[in-house]
Amino acid sequence: MGRLLESAAARDLLARWPRALVITACQQQLNRLRRELFANSMSITDEHCSVEAVAAGAAAELERRLAHSLRPVINATGVLLQTNLGRAPLSEAAIENVVRIARGYANVEFRLATGSRGRRDEHIEPLLLELIAARSAAPSKPLAATVVNNCAAATFLAVQTLAAGGEVIVSRGESVEIGGGFRVPEIIERSGATLREVGTTNRTRLSDYTQAITPQTRMILRVHRSNFRIDGFTEQPSLVSLVELGERAGLPVFHDQGTGCILRLEDHGICDESNWLDSIASGASLIAASGDKLLGGPQCGLLVGAPGLIAQLRANPLARAMRPGKLTLAALSATLLEYLEGREHAVPVVAMLSLDSVALRERCDALTSRLSRAGFDAATVASESVTGGGTTPGAALPSFAIALAHRALREAELARRLRTGEPPVVARTQHERVLLDLRTVPAEMDDALAAAVEACLPA
Ligand SMILES: *Cc1c(COP(=O)(O)O)cnc(C)c1O
Repeated sequence: MGRLLESAAARDLLARWPRALVITACQQQLNRLRRELFANSMSITDEHCSVEAVAAGAAAELERRLAHSLRPVINATGVLLQTNLGRAPLSEAAIENVVRIARGYANVEFRLATGSRGRRDEHIEPLLLELIAARSAAPSKPLAATVVNNCAAATFLAVQTLAAGGEVIVSRGESVEIGGGFRVPEIIERSGATLREVGTTNRTRLSDYTQAITPQTRMILRVHRSNFRIDGFTEQPSLVSLVELGERAGLPVFHDQGTGCILRLEDHGICDESNWLDSIASGASLIAASGDKLLGGPQCGLLVGAPGLIAQLRANPLARAMRPGKLTLAALSATLLEYLEGREHAVPVVAMLSLDSVALRERCDALTSRLSRAGFDAATVASESVTGGGTTPGAALPSFAIALAHRALREAELARRLRTGEPPVVARTQHERVLLDLRTVPAEMDDALAAAVEACLPA
């Protein structure tokens, strides 16, 4: 050990890592070597016991242990919003604002004009309300807004604040699970309210809601079917008619809208899809949405609604347990400004939705020829991208993908090599081929993607 630490090889290690870590790593290497010598001395050569070999082993071990587990990946699945892959990438302006705010102190909860304590959501509320006013056809009722850590928290906070101890009316067709263990009945139960299911899975009428109202009712909840569709013999009252019922009965109507979409998705060939602004226009008392779905911002939960209700949510001690960090506020305010200043195409999710499929095909063709030359069996094929992540179930965007195979690699092995390479590439497999959909790959990454595929070639 003494000789080891004096050596030039160890000096390199000590220049990179703290002494204590280097010593432990070297000790582990020496212990392993001793065990191996006892177990099978024949296989251990002098070379294995050299100072250089032990130091190299320690360096490899330290590099492995001290590496980031969270890494950037290339998403070649064509699924724009994948919860497993972190949902929406941020715009450059949002990234810059995160860096600007992260670097030092900021007036997170501090009013510079008066020197008094402020609220975190003051950095977001005016922008959100401005955006709603700018995009709405008619002026809405007075609104207020707040932000929590995600939409699940927003929903929980709303139900817990407004309905604990009472009943929440939900259609059986909306008493659902939305990816990642977000189950409407469980959220309601854990919030201390009682679920009052009405209607049937496929058909719920306004009269079902009306008949379920009792003195115990605290809220009517509408949940967006974010990750499934019910087709065929179906019926569901409009949000507007629920709002009218709520007004007659003196009950808040809470819309868990989820997607946070403010785009006209019809322009992207996705029809019949819930829009967050429509929920506001319909007069719902309170609306919850994710910040990192179709809005294209950071993970957070947006709550917009009647000022009296928002004030109650803010006053709930649980709101403190759900407050977003300053980096989230920085990314969200910059994302909202992209929309407000008419630069929404700088928001990656919006840009990916709008990508022209002819341009996608050209990029696929270029990569297909390069990969064919490298020895792959590669072809450009028509594919369908989806928004995913609990947004527009059943809707697809026509796209193009590279169908990839190699005579010496099964598709599962090729997919594994892609995932475990640098950078990791996540792809779909279909019909014994790996499919690389370029809609979710930034064009400037095409080169890196091709290189990552080439690196999978068998030696
Ligand atoms: C996605 C979604 C949620 C959960 O949102 P998170 O931001 O993932 O917490 C809740 N409700 C609806 C309707 C959703 O679409």
